[in-house]
Amino acid sequence: MAFPGNRLLLASGNAGKLRELQSILADFAIQLASPQDLGLNPASLCDPDGQPISIEETGSTFRENAQIKAVGFYRASTIPSLSDDSGLCVDALKGAPGVLSARFGGEGLSDADRNELLLRKLQPYPEVEQRKAQFVCVLCLCMGPGQFFFFEGRVEGFIASAPQGQGGFGYDPIFIEESTGKCFGTMSPAEKASLSHRGRALRRLSAFLAEG
Ligand code: IMP
Repeated sequence: MAFPGNRLLLASGNAGKLRELQSILADFAIQLASPQDLGLNPASLCDPDGQPISIEETGSTFRENAQIKAVGFYRASTIPSLSDDSGLCVDALKGAPGVLSARFGGEGLSDADRNELLLRKLQPYPEVEQRKAQFVCVLCLCMGPGQFFFFEGRVEGFIASAPQGQGGFGYDPIFIEESTGKCFGTMSPAEKASLSHRGRALRRLSAFLAEG
């Protein structure tokens, strides 16, 4: 897949996601830019005519929200843009927090506060099989007006009884990956990427990019 100008904007303001996207895409001969590198403020994007662009995540699916962000950043930058919409879906909470993962419990909470809140909500479900959860990641690559491609990855696991480790970001300290029984919070970035929803979605994107 050829990139006009050989540049790709990583359309996210989330430092944890940016780190993971950058490290996996580093193997490609593509110049990666963050919104900050281009002086773009996700809260006040404008198109080249100065018209405001909203990237508010109003969709009810990861795919819709990924598309809103990729298209918004593409319109603001006119550079091919890759967004990531992701979240944690907990079976006992009927899929919550899901698309609301970043806002679970309201604005102004830290990652640690959100993890504590989730652990409190799962107190009535102490058994491992009652704490099943999945991380989901949908990447949207917007290459031009009306030109988008989606790449999805999922990972199964369950919610720990208490936070573990200092690695990663977000809900990593309370997510135990099913095949290893290890918490994402205790994994190195490479180990997490080899198993995670984002790593899986990125490997699908990589295959697409490598098709040339
Ligand atoms: P959004 O995609 O910007 O709506 O935010 C997704 C939210 O889901 C993040 O703010 C994190 O709380 C959570 N999340 C997504 N991916 C991960 C991950 O790999 N580890 C931990 N938390 C994640």
